Amino acid sequence: MKKPIYFDHAATTPVCEEAFNEMKPYFTEIFGNPNSQHVFGREAVKAVDEARDKIASYINCKPSELYFTSGGTEGDNWALRGCARALKSKGKHLIISPIEHAAMITTAKALEKEGFEVSFMKVDSEGRVDLEHLQSIIREDTTFIGCMMANNEVGTIEPIKEIAKIAHEHNAVCFTDAVQAAGVLKIDVKDLGVDLMSMSSHKIYGPKGVGALYIRNGLLIESILTGGHQERMKRGGTTNVPGIVGFAKAFEIANRDLEKNFKYVSSLRDRFIDRVLNEVPFVKLNGPRENRLPANADFSFKYIEGESILFSLDLAGIAVSSGSACSSGSLEPSHVLLALGLPEGLAHGSIRFSFGKHNTIEEVDYAVDVIKSAVERLREMSPLFKKEEVIKNV
Ligand code: PLP
Repeated sequence: MKKPIYFDHAATTPVCEEAFNEMKPYFTEIFGNPNSQHVFGREAVKAVDEARDKIASYINCKPSELYFTSGGTEGDNWALRGCARALKSKGKHLIISPIEHAAMITTAKALEKEGFEVSFMKVDSEGRVDLEHLQSIIREDTTFIGCMMANNEVGTIEPIKEIAKIAHEHNAVCFTDAVQAAGVLKIDVKDLGVDLMSMSSHKIYGPKGVGALYIRNGLLIESILTGGHQERMKRGGTTNVPGIVGFAKAFEIANRDLEKNFKYVSSLRDRFIDRVLNEVPFVKLNGPRENRLPANADFSFKYIEGESILFSLDLAGIAVSSGSACSSGSLEPSHVLLALGLPEGLAHGSIRFSFGKHNTIEEVDYAVDVIKSAVERLREMSPLFKKEEVIKNV
């Protein structure tokens, strides 16, 4: 069988060889617990300190402002829950974008049950936050404003610097989820002015189950993982030394090759988008043409369920992702596409293609050819499409 083609890098990436090799000794030889008061412990501390220094330098923060986590989900939970609870004597109003990852949306919903009030800033039809609307919903009691740096589904890059400025003018803290952006876009947390930022290793060719949260020095935040004294008493749990070492190496490589990867991956994306728009009828590109993640192309195919295209592509050996979330047996339309104003039908028919540095132009061209024939075949079976055709031809 031909090797399958992977176009789902926004979901996860393979661990790069450099990161894998760097991690290996930390499973078997340098296996100490950084909390231990002996040579094994000291070796582990050294590795974690070095990793922290490296990652801090890539995002321009102090090492003391970086806390290792189990990934983006924990970082998002910690930022939102930890700030909301720590600042509740000032106010209980929180603002997030409606296109945040589930790690933010579900945490916000849980906080509503604790008596917090959550408002959503509006986004335009390409997913960009409406800053005027944000200004209009901030209140005296708003303590937290959270918006992702780049959307995982439609790739929109958000105006984080402007959002942070607005937040600070109103004495609120500003958080950004940079899970899809860190290691892909150049990030300087001081220049952006954010107070907190979450990152994840497995989106940038690092191992799964590890990430980091930047917390500006002096910021009030509660811990959510209480336990031992790890991470300067802020986050309990035995330190994931190999994971952290692998994350730092993957970040180093991503940072070193950032411009080269951006150029290459966005050239694949652009060829793909151009060909699909020109050669497949009744498609909608979701998200903007400019100012979008280099790897991301998200399309809605009118008159077809996203899942049917996903299965056709899977049969042809192409791995992609559907925008819909399959929850408890029922297929929900994507909350991101609904927030962009897409009708439910189109929000159901979306497919996310996310390219990576190992993909080739031949793979992109093959995928377009497969999509063209799959879409044609599926539309022939679609009663909706047939009805539209009949109406058009009357
Ligand atoms: N935030 C965004 C924007 C994401 O895309 C993801 C993962 O898909 C997460 C958070 C969760 O990150 P993790 O898988 O590291 O928990």
